[in-house]
Amino acid sequence: MASLKELVELYVEMENTSSHKKIVGLLTSFFRSLDPDDVRTAAYLVLGTVGPEYEDTELGIREKLAIRSIADAFGISRQKVEKTYSDTGDLGDAAFEFSSNKNSDLTIRDVMDCLTQIKNTSGEGSQQKKIELLAEILARASAMEAKYIMRITLGELRLGFGEQFVLSALAMAFTGDDKNTVYLEEAYNVCTDIGQLAESVSEYGLASIKRFSVKIGRPVRSMLAKRVDKFENLNDKFPEQMAAEEKYDGERIQVHIINENIQIFSRRLDNITDQFPDVVDAVKKHIKAEKAVLDGEVIAFRNENINSFQELMQRRRKYDVEEYVDKVPVVAYMFDIIYLNGKSYLKVPYPHRRTALEEHLEENEKIRLVERTVSADFNEIRSFFDRCIDKGLEGIIIKSVADNSFYQPGKRGWLWVKWKKEYAEDVRDTFDLIIVGFYSGKGKRQGLFGSLLCAVLNKEKNQYETFTRVGTGFTDQDLEEISELLNKKKIKKKPPNLVVEKEMVPDSYIDPSVVIEVLGSQVTESPHHTAGKNKSDKGYALRFPRFLRMRYDKGPLDVTTIEEVRNLL
Ligand code: AMP
Repeated sequence: MASLKELVELYVEMENTSSHKKIVGLLTSFFRSLDPDDVRTAAYLVLGTVGPEYEDTELGIREKLAIRSIADAFGISRQKVEKTYSDTGDLGDAAFEFSSNKNSDLTIRDVMDCLTQIKNTSGEGSQQKKIELLAEILARASAMEAKYIMRITLGELRLGFGEQFVLSALAMAFTGDDKNTVYLEEAYNVCTDIGQLAESVSEYGLASIKRFSVKIGRPVRSMLAKRVDKFENLNDKFPEQMAAEEKYDGERIQVHIINENIQIFSRRLDNITDQFPDVVDAVKKHIKAEKAVLDGEVIAFRNENINSFQELMQRRRKYDVEEYVDKVPVVAYMFDIIYLNGKSYLKVPYPHRRTALEEHLEENEKIRLVERTVSADFNEIRSFFDRCIDKGLEGIIIKSVADNSFYQPGKRGWLWVKWKKEYAEDVRDTFDLIIVGFYSGKGKRQGLFGSLLCAVLNKEKNQYETFTRVGTGFTDQDLEEISELLNKKKIKKKPPNLVVEKEMVPDSYIDPSVVIEVLGSQVTESPHHTAGKNKSDKGYALRFPRFLRMRYDKGPLDVTTIEEVRNLL
């Protein structure tokens, strides 16, 4: 059984290198060394988590309880712990400092069991119970182990790499070939549980993960749309008929149904069922299927008028949910079905999926079918687009109706193409960028950030490349909200999957996990940015960027890719 000591040695080594290759190599050797029974646990713990993304992995321990646990574990006063915490800003360091233990016999399974127990402890007296459980394992751990247990508990492992590294390492460790990473990625888009994926590939090899399918209660990654730079370019993509659907500016939802049991997942795979009791109710009444998984968009909507995305974001809350059901009414517009009564519909072409959706959805004021037009005539598609814009929509999504128009989880391919108002106006474009660093603010922005260093994703190289520095467009509230977030996400060194020029090194790097939407006017070449840069070439940069809004609904793999930027040139 794998000892915790080995895992902690791996953390230390990974923390001490910025080399992407080396980190994958370290992970590969670690996975190879494990007993099959430990692979699942290890896959979660190397990512600093205790379960799949779509489960609530919050342990319910914040600074206050963590301080009490450290004090109890090592028999010291809370004040002492608080002092070290205020000096170092890291409770992991505090746990390390007060532990005098050199050796421990803890296994990775012990840690997983303990953290899972902490997570599952709820109700009356649960805080005290959580403190006791954490204190107990801290007391058993070596000083170095205590440091990392503390960081994982607080969700602050922050080694600066994501699942992509783990997928490459699993491919290397269990199939012996890095090229198989693509199959792992594909399987991971369907089975979004990294532990399950790791366990299957280690025990049964590649064939087993290629068979992954939709399972109710486990969200698949959403299919995405590509963009074109000119409307005329759609000609090549859709030589015959196509379907143009209204594109709504809201939040993506994936609705899982087993009889009366309804679960709703966001695009980031968070379980957001509790935020939308009104949608749950409508699904129960108006979806005529025992078991189904539907895809759609929820938007803020009042008296047949579409309200803004910002308004909808007020529904992101744990408290006063019922009050906001009335304050910010919504409508769920459904556009796809990917599972129905025991059968996966991933490999069913879009026209048949749409028919199945129409047959099982009873339209009413809370849950509706996305409106669309099907035609081979681009003039008709363009007038449909114009009507959408007049109605206040964002644009359209054009969908293939061909025999191979399957639902491709997590893919941004040519089966779906978006055409938005901004593209049509030809002057501006919006980009979803990841924050990778910030420069401190001066003058009025003293104590806040001055500007954000933002990057695009290079999918081929599996890295982030800087694209622009955003300093305008923020309201006072944005400035405060983002500064607070940056404080939480600060990391000491450059993330291993970021490429940055000397001139652009920020005052602090940020764990690449926060996505913002930015409006820009022009993409030009620049020696200072690394987007799309090959060896001595220049990179691309976005000029006159302006912050539009936070995209909490988007994750690190949802950001604009360098391929999309190139398509615009
Ligand atoms: P974007 O976020 O700009 O990449 O656009 C893709 C997003 O548009 C999807 O993730 C959905 O949340 C949203 N969307 C709105 N209407 C539709 C539709 N009819 N079909 C597919 N996606 C849609």
